[in-house]
Amino acid sequence: MSNETIQAVRGMNDILPDEAALWLWFEEVVRDWLHSYGYRNIRMPLVEPTALFKRAIGEVTDIVEKEMYSFEDAMNGDHLTLRPEGTASCVRAVLQHNLLYNAPQRLYYSGQMFRHERPQKGRYRQFHQFGVEALGFAGPDIDAEQILMCARLWKKLGLTDVTLQLNTLGDAASRHAHRAKLIAYFEQHAELLDAEAQRRLHSNPLRILDSKNPAMQELIAGAPKLMDELEEDALKHFEAVQAILKRHDVPFEINPRLVRGLDYYNRTVFEWVTTRLGAQGTICAGGRYDGLVEQIGGKPAPATGFAMGVERLLALLQDDGMALPKAEVDVYVVHQGELACQLASTVAEQLRDDGLRVVLHCGGGSFKSQMKKADASGARVAVVIGDDEALANEVSVKPMQGGEQERVSVQNLTSTVNKFIKRE
Ligand code: ATP
Ligand code: MG
Repeated sequence: MSNETIQAVRGMNDILPDEAALWLWFEEVVRDWLHSYGYRNIRMPLVEPTALFKRAIGEVTDIVEKEMYSFEDAMNGDHLTLRPEGTASCVRAVLQHNLLYNAPQRLYYSGQMFRHERPQKGRYRQFHQFGVEALGFAGPDIDAEQILMCARLWKKLGLTDVTLQLNTLGDAASRHAHRAKLIAYFEQHAELLDAEAQRRLHSNPLRILDSKNPAMQELIAGAPKLMDELEEDALKHFEAVQAILKRHDVPFEINPRLVRGLDYYNRTVFEWVTTRLGAQGTICAGGRYDGLVEQIGGKPAPATGFAMGVERLLALLQDDGMALPKAEVDVYVVHQGELACQLASTVAEQLRDDGLRVVLHCGGGSFKSQMKKADASGARVAVVIGDDEALANEVSVKPMQGGEQERVSVQNLTSTVNKFIKRE
């Protein structure tokens, strides 16, 4: 057997404790923000039937064509997939448990997503999203609310250079008319299409607009605009969203080429982008998807949602010089001798009862080496116990930043520790 160390799967990252502190802080900020808009948490499995994503996301999309981690269950041959996104699972769960009828839902989830992409900065094979879905709401008010929510979060996080791109994909009739015009236009210029665009010309011509191939940008810029075909209701909806954003002073740019990577969107679509992360500049994306509930087998219901890429957001915050919040320890308890050892674990539990964060030294060693560990732990106070202290049911309290050590009774320990902590 080889003794080579085993590495993590390419594109799947460990988040080590120093960095995890930033994740914990971020997750708490995001949860508070979601709760402030009345969104409730839902948790779905990481694995779903492959058919769910094929049906929800669409067969002719990057995700379903080439990015899914799909496998056969070795026990029973079921076709399964590690979730590449959360919307399909969320809608599946809502329908399966009948949450939707007579009760619109504001829901959020967070966690790992899996896509087999080429790993690079801001693009991983396992990444994390916070996803937000409002199901059962038809009006432009909820679309605008979700965009305003995002603006508030960026403000909370101190991100000032994220901009909003907005578009509408209209409804079935306008998409149909636009699709025919697009195919005709691209057929006229077939010699300028790359291989992928040629392949998609008849199956999913809208996606050609999304191409990042520089050689096709001029062609795409001249393509017929869906905006020119928009039906009255869809136009009114789009105008209402814009009016709300203007009333709240949220600037946006209308980008007629914003089509989103997934098939299920209609009407409002949006992306929040930054220029600071290179090609991976989209930190948050979403929009309306009124057809999806029915497509997954439910009674038709309107819906709108968005997802944020956590790695990209954290990269922005780190780029801003955001200091990693240090996981704090209040007290480190050092001890030597059998009696002292017993008292040490008793006082450690007592301090935790009183709400303090306590590390009890384990593994023996001299006082000197234990104090080094106390220092490295970042604790603000060391509690020092030798057998003579233990015999008297007393301990010594030492502020780590300097200052006089105090010997106190076990009863007075918490108040003494608190006194030192507050004094700093
Ligand atoms: P992109 O165009 O960058 O591939 P996408 O349109 O495929 O993005 P969505 O499916 O809309 O992305 O996912 C929402 C967000 O999740 C993205 O805006 C991005 O912030 C993040 N995201 C998507 N794919 C990845 C990935 N492979 N690694 C890290 N973050 C990702
Ligand atoms: Mg993608």
